[in-house]
Amino acid sequence: MPYFPQGHKDFNELRHLILLYGDPAKPWTRGDLRYYVAHLDQKGEPDDWLFDSFLFLNVKAGTGRDYSADINIGSTMAGEGNFVAVCSPQPANKGDWEALVEFYLGEHGALRNLDAAIGECADKIGRPYGARRNVVLMLPYPHITQGSFGALSEGGGILDFSTKRHNLAKATEERLAAERWLVDEYVQRFTAQQFKHLDLLGVYWMFETIYRSWDVDDHWLLKELRKHIRARGLKFLWIPFWSSYNVHLLDDYQKYYFDLAFLQPNYMFYKQGKTIAAAAHAARQRNAGIEMEYYLELNEPIAVQSERHARFREYLNGGVTYGYMSDAVCAHFQGARALQRMHMHTDAREREFYEDICQFVTGTYRLKSEIEERGAEGIGRVALSVDLGGTNLRGALIDAEGTIHHRVSERTPSSKEEILRRLKSTLRGLVDEARRRGAHVHGIGVSTGGRVDFDAGVILDSTALLSDWQNIPLREILQLEFQLPVSVDNDGNCAALAELMLGEGRAASHFITLVLGTGIGGGVVVDGKLLRGARNAAAELGHISISHDGPECSCGNKGCVELYASGSALARQAKELVKSGAIRLDRNSDQDVSAEALADAARKGNAAAQQLIEQAGTSLGIAVAGLLNTFNPERIILSGSLIKLGDMYMRPFRETVKERSMAVARETAVIVVSDLSDPGLLGAASLVFSRGAVTSGSS
Ligand code: ADP
Ligand code: MG
Ligand code: ZN
Repeated sequence: MPYFPQGHKDFNELRHLILLYGDPAKPWTRGDLRYYVAHLDQKGEPDDWLFDSFLFLNVKAGTGRDYSADINIGSTMAGEGNFVAVCSPQPANKGDWEALVEFYLGEHGALRNLDAAIGECADKIGRPYGARRNVVLMLPYPHITQGSFGALSEGGGILDFSTKRHNLAKATEERLAAERWLVDEYVQRFTAQQFKHLDLLGVYWMFETIYRSWDVDDHWLLKELRKHIRARGLKFLWIPFWSSYNVHLLDDYQKYYFDLAFLQPNYMFYKQGKTIAAAAHAARQRNAGIEMEYYLELNEPIAVQSERHARFREYLNGGVTYGYMSDAVCAHFQGARALQRMHMHTDAREREFYEDICQFVTGTYRLKSEIEERGAEGIGRVALSVDLGGTNLRGALIDAEGTIHHRVSERTPSSKEEILRRLKSTLRGLVDEARRRGAHVHGIGVSTGGRVDFDAGVILDSTALLSDWQNIPLREILQLEFQLPVSVDNDGNCAALAELMLGEGRAASHFITLVLGTGIGGGVVVDGKLLRGARNAAAELGHISISHDGPECSCGNKGCVELYASGSALARQAKELVKSGAIRLDRNSDQDVSAEALADAARKGNAAAQQLIEQAGTSLGIAVAGLLNTFNPERIILSGSLIKLGDMYMRPFRETVKERSMAVARETAVIVVSDLSDPGLLGAASLVFSRGAVTSGSS
């Protein structure tokens, strides 16, 4: 089953619901509410919309009497497992309920101020916010300790919620009557106010479990109350406490009492609590939303105070990893007005969380590792870096300065499943190595052949050099497996990024890098920025055709330079020569005929081999001459294993470029060999440390 989805039409497009706990001594002002309506900049000015839905709830009346019945009353908050719900010895009465209506819907009540705050922000932000903003109002618990609630109308009887003077059926009817009265009061007062920006979406059941016993019958009460609520076009919402004994109440909840329920992970409060993964799974199984839980401090003895930041980071990251940030309706518990106090908090980490929460609400938060939040401690931060090519699968631990600390390499397997398996095991090995060295793993960067949707972290397709390497949500797969931020990019782009930051590209604003391996990849940097194209598919430099009737390429074209000048091209042509008897290599089996073997033969004086390599260099030169004329770069930076062919390949290449490019372009461009040991791996690591920020000029 999916989560309860965001943007549901019947719920007026509800997405993110903020819980606003009210205090009668400190009514909600317009200024307070702005923090929830909009994201505020450094000066406190609204610059973007934030929550679309607002849940108002109060725990106590001004008289000190209780609206809520807390399932955690007693020592249970830290007691971890011994949960008892107790009705308040001082339950709120009719006067307190009226005060609640006034607090929300009075002339200077919370909703009036919310409506005004939205209007104010609309002027400043200058962009419409979509559907009207949703309001949900709490229904206090009708405590069975309340023997004298008051009369609903003048001359009416005094309601008694207890079973002291009448039976359970009568007591429950009177509890129901009080709730119905309140719902109607909310509707009438709300309608009369004629708010400009608000929609009354529904009411919220405060008590977090459902009881039925000799003296209490919440089941019947809720069943009848729901009919009343629905008849008024409202929704009934619930956010129950999650523990093993309570969670079954969420099973099929829509068939019983509630229209929408959010699951509380409670991971923020209990040491032995369940994981975020388990909470997300449980919510999905039940078509529920998820509650985000954050606080600055709570006046309860919470066992996990010291892990507050790390744990909340897991809630945020979970929204990406398990999809609830954008796929599920989310309720946001923030303790006592935490979000507004975080905005200008003296602790930079709280301010960062403010931004992170705002991004989460607008659906733009991206995974962050716990390390980053520790800031200064981050010495020894490393990226797990992988470079997947047609021949080699390489991995390394690389720090933020670009130093490679540990390297592994193996042959690229020949099936998609096997590649994925080896990719994961390479990464697992790197995780272990990082642990051995006491390094903090900052994230995973993958450089790979093929077209990559960089924003989504999806492999779109590739040529025959990586078989079946297409339609793979690689970021998602690796994030689930390793619980780390993952960036994926094309190997040519990665090489260009590495050159830009660490290599021959540092001194140039315009350069082209060519990665000469099994295939030919490339990256183009213009004005100091990587050229990505509309869908990150730019700079497929190996697929420039140099022969209109050349052999067919698996990219769809004919005569691509990759078919003449790459490692795989040399191997293919060498095989033909071996077959025809034109050359003899030391080892002649099909598998052994490679670019290396050809190079050996050429060095030993084999003329046919020399000629092949020379032609390869010439072919590359033809393509690069066109690139020079197109981009007028300052540098052409070459990397990849074919560099080892040396002059046999380079000389004809350089000569052809010179002969064939236009004078200005030729005079500007210097052809150099990269001085980086592994541009692909280094570029992938740079994605991790910069999160790709340097690569996309637009965002
Ligand atoms: P990948 O393509 O997997 O990213 P490389 O950049 O290492 O990996 O390139 C592999 C290609 O380079 C293969 O075609 C291989 O035969 C060729 N190659 C490797 N070493 C040499 C060498 N010393 N001389 C010539 N070609 C080589
Ligand atoms: Mg490569
Ligand atoms: Zn091609």
